[in-house]
Amino acid sequence: MKKALYLLLSLYIFIGCSNDSSTNDEDIKRANRQTTGASANDFLSDDNFNSLTIELIYVTGYRPNQSSIDNLESFIQERTYKPGGINFVERAIASPANSPYTIQEIADLENDYREEYNMGDNLTLSIMFIDGKSDQDEGNSVVLGTAYRNTSMVIYQNTLEQNSNGVGEPDRVMLESTVLRHELSHLFGLVDLGTPMLQDHKDEANGHHCDVQDCLMNYQVEAGSVFDMASGGTIPSLDPLCLADLKANGGK
Ligand SMILES: [Zn+2]
Ligand SMILES: [Zn+2]
Repeated sequence: MKKALYLLLSLYIFIGCSNDSSTNDEDIKRANRQTTGASANDFLSDDNFNSLTIELIYVTGYRPNQSSIDNLESFIQERTYKPGGINFVERAIASPANSPYTIQEIADLENDYREEYNMGDNLTLSIMFIDGKSDQDEGNSVVLGTAYRNTSMVIYQNTLEQNSNGVGEPDRVMLESTVLRHELSHLFGLVDLGTPMLQDHKDEANGHHCDVQDCLMNYQVEAGSVFDMASGGTIPSLDPLCLADLKANGGK
């Protein structure tokens, strides 16, 4: 039996420290520790931020394919206004050797290693590529990625590599690109997660996903048919309803 691949969306709500002993440094970081979807408009429009820095934090040996990073960049350019440009910084870290990871443990690792925080009109995004698996993996269902906070996502790169490029498995670049675009679209506020819906297309049974079949934000992308779609050789696209929502919230 084929494994179902889940790209789990986790709504991680950071409980900020609000005492008056907070330092300047903590104030700076607080803008990047908000609820998932809270920075949707900041990603999409150039009202508050006209450039974007993406920090790739990966365990040594678990850097994704450059083509997948390029595919993520082109997706951002197609959907958002960032006239000041998109730039990448990278950091390799040692294995925390703590698999399976809870989302709190992932967030704690981000606290330890993230160096890029919003500054002036530059928005920042942190993507961690971890060497272990999610504690949400269950039987044949494995989690490939999770969007959490407002500018943070994690890719379970070891799990992704174990489920791609084998016989009957999707192409790795295709799968990486799909997971990266799907999770980032949650940070863009889809579906009904900080970006309001122009008309109802939320899959109520499956959280903040799209009820249009074959849409990048369809729950089916999470529930196994990502295999079929990804092995078809194309990364799923956003459907017109998701695209209209992004546009109405300041995107392209
Ligand atoms: Zn999702
Ligand atoms: Zn959609």
